[in-house]
Amino acid sequence: MSTSQFVVVGASAAGVSAAFALRRAGATGAVTIVDADPNLPYERPPLSKSELGGPAALRPLRPASDYADAGIELLLGSSVAEIEPGRAVHLADGTALQADHTVLTTGVRARRLTVPGADLDNVLVLRDAADSAALAARLTVGGPLVVVGGGFIGLELAAVALERGIRPTVVEMAPLPLLGVVDRPVAELVHRRHHERGVELVLGTTVERFVGHGAVEEVVLADGRRLPAATVVVGVGVEPRDELAVKAGLETDRAGIVVDCHGATSDPRVWAAGDIASQPHPALAQRGRIEHWDAALRHGEAVGASAAGVPTAYTDPPYAWSDQFGTTYQMLGRRHPGDTLVLREDSGPERLLAFWLRDGRLVAALGLDAGREIGALRRIVGAAPAVPAPLLADPATDLRRLAKELRAAG
Ligand SMILES: Cc1cc2nc3c(=O)[nH]c(=O)nc-3n(C[C@H](O)[C@H](O)[C@H](O)COP(=O)(O)OP(=O)(O)OC[C@H]3O[C@@H](n4cnc5c(N)ncnc54)[C@H](O)[C@@H]3O)c2cc1C
Repeated sequence: MSTSQFVVVGASAAGVSAAFALRRAGATGAVTIVDADPNLPYERPPLSKSELGGPAALRPLRPASDYADAGIELLLGSSVAEIEPGRAVHLADGTALQADHTVLTTGVRARRLTVPGADLDNVLVLRDAADSAALAARLTVGGPLVVVGGGFIGLELAAVALERGIRPTVVEMAPLPLLGVVDRPVAELVHRRHHERGVELVLGTTVERFVGHGAVEEVVLADGRRLPAATVVVGVGVEPRDELAVKAGLETDRAGIVVDCHGATSDPRVWAAGDIASQPHPALAQRGRIEHWDAALRHGEAVGASAAGVPTAYTDPPYAWSDQFGTTYQMLGRRHPGDTLVLREDSGPERLLAFWLRDGRLVAALGLDAGREIGALRRIVGAAPAVPAPLLADPATDLRRLAKELRAAG
């Protein structure tokens, strides 16, 4: 049982689940969660989906009473300026909180473009509730919308805009959207689905500058094209919020704060979890970030338990989802370059199941509106013995039964 005082920096998926895991693992000392965001901790995924701007977009992670019941203090609207490992956490307003152990769950920030005009009004990013409200207000005003970046957030926003009567243009540097995450046949299908519904995709080029008087009016592309724009959303990836760790002398790398399999940093009195952690997860080819909601919840939980003295590793296959035009995309595990793609034979424009094999073993899967199948695979991805590709490709194969058999054989 730990009587230490804990301060968790960041009240989102990883921080909140770490705090409750501390209590479950027997931590009896003070547990405080601090976040610069003034809102009761909320779910981030709805911010870019159909709920955008509506009351359902700010969905609390837990009711306020849960924190009080667990004896967890929430300090919201407070920025942390510095941590002193083993001693204190210093807030920007000068307050010092005693902290024997600190858990850093500071996440990532949206990357901004550095091209001319990037600071014009109505060139937005989307990371938190305030960003989401600002974007919703712009969609109400109307006018042409340009989304820079054809990743999940960019595609979700394009779908939401279209649902609200605004025809968006998505600018993507790669020849297809989502190419960094999935293989070409899957990316082609995603492209087709968006194109057919009316999203304009400008591929293989990038933004040279934004033009406007005070507010953005035009996006000038590297290939010379000019796109009219009343609003621009930049969704081109993220950067780790690792300043506190760097200042405290903790080991960091390009991905974030370096942690071991239990979330311990290079200082045994500081832990890190969620998007900010550069973690040695078995699904990754090398240590790095896993930027998914479910992973942040589970990693936070494992790291909270470890910090309370119950060493716990997060090894579940990473799971993520995305909603676009009423279709749910679900991804399980991580594909690496060189993995073999197997498409289910009945995959088509409205339905898709894709699998990735490495040395014959199932290491990743992606489904469109295939919750039942993806759910069945959750316990075997990355863990089961080799499975013949034709079995996966055959629509007649019952994946639940197959998963059961593989688990029994594994
Ligand atoms: C718009 C959007 C949609 C998404 N949709 C999906 C989805 O559909 N599916 C999916 O799997 N994933 C999705 N994600 C990713 C998912 O939300 C993240 O992986 C998850 O939020 C990571 O949780 P975290 O707790 O590690 O960090 P974060 O959620 O980034 O939280 C970090 C917190 O730390 C606080 N903080 C940072 N520095 C300080 C400081 N110095 N002082 C005080 N507080 C600080 C921040 O205010 C923030 O609240 C989405 C992300 C976004 C932005």
